[in-house]
Amino acid sequence: MFAIWSGRKLGKSYEFDFWQIVKCVTERGWGELCTTVEKKDKDAYDNLMRNSPKMWTRAFLGTTCKSDIIDNNLCESFNSNIIEARFKSIIRMLEDIRTKMMTRIVQKRKLYNRWKRNYGPLVKAKLDANKKDCVEWQLIWNGENGCELRKGRYQYTVDLSQSICSCRSWQISGILCAHICAAMYHLGLQLDDYLHEYHHIETCKKAYSFPMQPINGSHDWPKTGIELALPPIERKIPGRPKKNRRIAKDEPKKLKLDHLSRKGLLMTCTQCGQQGHNKGFCTKGNKHVKQ
Ligand SMILES: [Zn+2]
Ligand SMILES: [Zn+2]
Repeated sequence: MFAIWSGRKLGKSYEFDFWQIVKCVTERGWGELCTTVEKKDKDAYDNLMRNSPKMWTRAFLGTTCKSDIIDNNLCESFNSNIIEARFKSIIRMLEDIRTKMMTRIVQKRKLYNRWKRNYGPLVKAKLDANKKDCVEWQLIWNGENGCELRKGRYQYTVDLSQSICSCRSWQISGILCAHICAAMYHLGLQLDDYLHEYHHIETCKKAYSFPMQPINGSHDWPKTGIELALPPIERKIPGRPKKNRRIAKDEPKKLKLDHLSRKGLLMTCTQCGQQGHNKGFCTKGNKHVKQ
């Protein structure tokens, strides 16, 4: 999405703005961030808003699925995982993917069997950060179900009976935010009990509860009785087929260690000493002939 907006051309500060907009959890905050971009550069703002902004920002995520993923890394990693398989014929490809799935389920099972808690280490890291942050929030309790949490000019409300925090991050991700943590400490509740079941080890076990069944090789597959489909007539396409991901026009190139990009350098011609072109494009005389 960021590449579509061509934020790279606009520079680092826009990249920062972009991710702030994407990751913001409340509609109000989202609106404010958008206005700052609009003030900064009207054209860039119009460009950004043209791509249905409510589809890829956290502020407009529903709260049914307890997930706050707003990037496409899942597909990207799956794609890179099967990149070798993708260049094989259909049956070989599916066969490769099947074996990969088979081993992956085993790996994942080993992984969660090592978890010491009811939830995984990544969730723990986030939760720990929130627990740490929660001491900085001042709590005012209404005596029943609600409280206000204050820090500086920020103030959020927590409703424990409905499991709601007005910062929305709990509803979206299912991981307790700093405000809920503060409220629960105050009431002497066990934090770990309130983590959404989406993050529980049982849910993870359920997801990986069906192993792939081993199957025989193609020599032993049952016959379908359908006539063999012949391969299409081959047509040679010039050039070697591309394998790499298409790189955006303005994407920075991968450089070797200790190398700097030559982008923006002014070239000087070794032939005539003028700037703006190199020896290959020199028009002065015909002293040099391309070999
Ligand atoms: Zn909160
Ligand atoms: Zn020249």
